[in-house]
Amino acid sequence: MATVNKNYNKLRSGYLFNEIDRRTRDFIKKNPRVEVMRLGVGDTTEPLSPTIIKGLTQGVKKLANVKTYTGYQDAEGKEANTKLLKALGSFYKTRNINLDIDEIFINDGAKTDLANIQSIFGSNNIVAVSDPVYPAYVDVTVIAGRTGDFFDGQYKGLVYMECNEKNGFVPFPPKQKVDIIYLCNPNNPTGSVATRKQLKAFVDYSIKNKAVIIYDAAYTEYITDKSFPKSIYEIKGAKKCAIEINSFSKSVGFTGVRFGWTVVPMDLIIEKTKKGEIHNLWSRRQGTMFNGASNIAQAGALAALSKAGQRESKKMVGYYMNNARIIKKNLLKLGFKVFGGENAPYIWVKNPKGLSSWEFFDKLLNEAHVVGTPGSGFGRSGEGYLRLTAFGHTQDIEKAIKSIQTNFKL
Ligand SMILES: *Cc1c(COP(=O)(O)O)cnc(C)c1O
Repeated sequence: MATVNKNYNKLRSGYLFNEIDRRTRDFIKKNPRVEVMRLGVGDTTEPLSPTIIKGLTQGVKKLANVKTYTGYQDAEGKEANTKLLKALGSFYKTRNINLDIDEIFINDGAKTDLANIQSIFGSNNIVAVSDPVYPAYVDVTVIAGRTGDFFDGQYKGLVYMECNEKNGFVPFPPKQKVDIIYLCNPNNPTGSVATRKQLKAFVDYSIKNKAVIIYDAAYTEYITDKSFPKSIYEIKGAKKCAIEINSFSKSVGFTGVRFGWTVVPMDLIIEKTKKGEIHNLWSRRQGTMFNGASNIAQAGALAALSKAGQRESKKMVGYYMNNARIIKKNLLKLGFKVFGGENAPYIWVKNPKGLSSWEFFDKLLNEAHVVGTPGSGFGRSGEGYLRLTAFGHTQDIEKAIKSIQTNFKL
């Protein structure tokens, strides 16, 4: 008799974006002639750059020829794979981080590994997350059975590291002992970014408690202020306690192409493990349950790592960051209290007049016809805030801002 994984019953996931859709559709139905503008999407919108398109095209063409065709990581594929790993290694080297290419695992986007990484850790490990944060870390922890029920806005058994105005939306390490810590830096949804010192506090905590940091570096290329670290491995000791998961989704525009990588250092040790053991476990897990990222995506990724590719991607990131500046500058001018948007494509708006996240969402939709994302959907501490994103075409962003300026009654 098959039974279901009852942990799914505990999930609140799906609620946030379904509810946004429901309210938006409702508004459109009642106001069919009004144009609704979305400042809430967490997805890239600009086309891929020429160098990367060329790489992807070459990847496709290779598949058309019997001499260059590759399937799984066979002889030919392995060679291409090594080339790519070496390029990633060089990419880290420019940041003074030395990685052995064996320590880098290619993935098909960060989300897969952010979830699957939990499978190599003990089932009763205690997980800590920032609050508010990208909902996937919480949901995967629930599905894995590492939490209790949802109660009063939080899951029992999950440790929430509060992010608020006082700590600049960068959490402190937990007071109690935890085993797995998810860190999203720069943070989605608050757009905050941790200093070297703040990250070091997490590394020190983790070494002391033999905890592991799962470091989500998806927005690292949006860091414009050079004083902030771009990789957890810039912090001394991090190789002993941190797994870094990265992706080309937001930095190159690969949300649809799918490519990223995960670093599991040989030096990483947790309770009762030897050097290399965690690395080998992940290797074993991937060998059984993953057959690689698309070879076409890998060809695109190799092109993205070239000098020209990096230059072009930087330009694309700059385009989104210019959108962020437009949003932040104008909202500040209107008298809103606004955070983030300087080293991340997310703008975190404090709701005026003590409105709740959903009240502000409704007001913004009804008066300015702009759709944001209620902060409360990212965790209890997100209540009272709204997330706007810098993804989108600049002219659409400007239109939305204009509408807020003209129609929103502060
Ligand atoms: C968009 C995003 C990612 C990227 O996920 P992919 O699976 O690589 O597309 C990872 N983490 C966060 C916090 C994100 O917002």
